[in-house]
Amino acid sequence: MARTVTINNVKGGVAKTTTATNLAAGLARKGKRVLLIDSDPQANASSNLYPGLRAEKTIKDLFQGTPINEVISPSVETGLDIIPSCLAFSTIELELAAHLARETVLKRALKPIEENYDIILIDTQPSVGVIPINALCAADEVIIPVHEAYALDAMSQMVNVILQVKQTLNPGLVIGGILLTMYDPRTTLAKEVRERLLKNFGAILFETTIPRNIRLAECPTHKKSIFEYAPESAGAVAYQTLTEEVMKRWGMTK
Ligand code: ADP
Ligand code: MG
Repeated sequence: MARTVTINNVKGGVAKTTTATNLAAGLARKGKRVLLIDSDPQANASSNLYPGLRAEKTIKDLFQGTPINEVISPSVETGLDIIPSCLAFSTIELELAAHLARETVLKRALKPIEENYDIILIDTQPSVGVIPINALCAADEVIIPVHEAYALDAMSQMVNVILQVKQTLNPGLVIGGILLTMYDPRTTLAKEVRERLLKNFGAILFETTIPRNIRLAECPTHKKSIFEYAPESAGAVAYQTLTEEVMKRWGMTK
């Protein structure tokens, strides 16, 4: 039975996609069976890791009723499958408006393949619309990447959204981790934000922080994970450490 994890933050540009793609690649490299679902119509995770050689089906088809096996493709990373997204997926909110149970389309769609993977990771867009809510309803837990300037504000908004989802649609949902990204421990602001998060959320905050690293920003252009593109970089070391910390939290062996 797969563990389903969604990477959410109401803020954009906080490294949701960078974390989803590189954590997915890191877990696949540890021999885990991983499915990465790109649920953002901007399709950045897809352009990072989806070879896009064929006119494949996308998450839009999945939401319109295509069986899940037909929308899963191999990614550029060995052992990592992907459901790609596309700009046209943005219209799904309108299409679903009149549907009953529109928040649980993804949860129901995942049922047939839950035994095929160890981990299902969902990358999301920065909003509280019906698509990210679908991800929160399908997930066992949410990982929240935060960037210092808006970290505390973002966390209070995320806690409210998660509480609402827990009270209505997905009582089992938990915050699996908060990840400080583009983190520079030399600045006073970064240190203060880390201390505040530790005080408010304790051990939910990952010990691992992701430093600002230009190699991470370059990966998408080369259509590779950080492990493939720059295995010696500080970015690769950080996402490797995060992968190991996540696996330890989940009680997974290497
Ligand atoms: P989100 O998905 O939350 O919008 P992204 O993962 O797309 O955020 O990251 C936003 C931008 O910052 C992208 O251009 C990405 O390449 C870059 N980026 C992400 N993490 C880092 C990092 N640790 N160091 C440098 N650049 C980063
Ligand atoms: Mg993104």
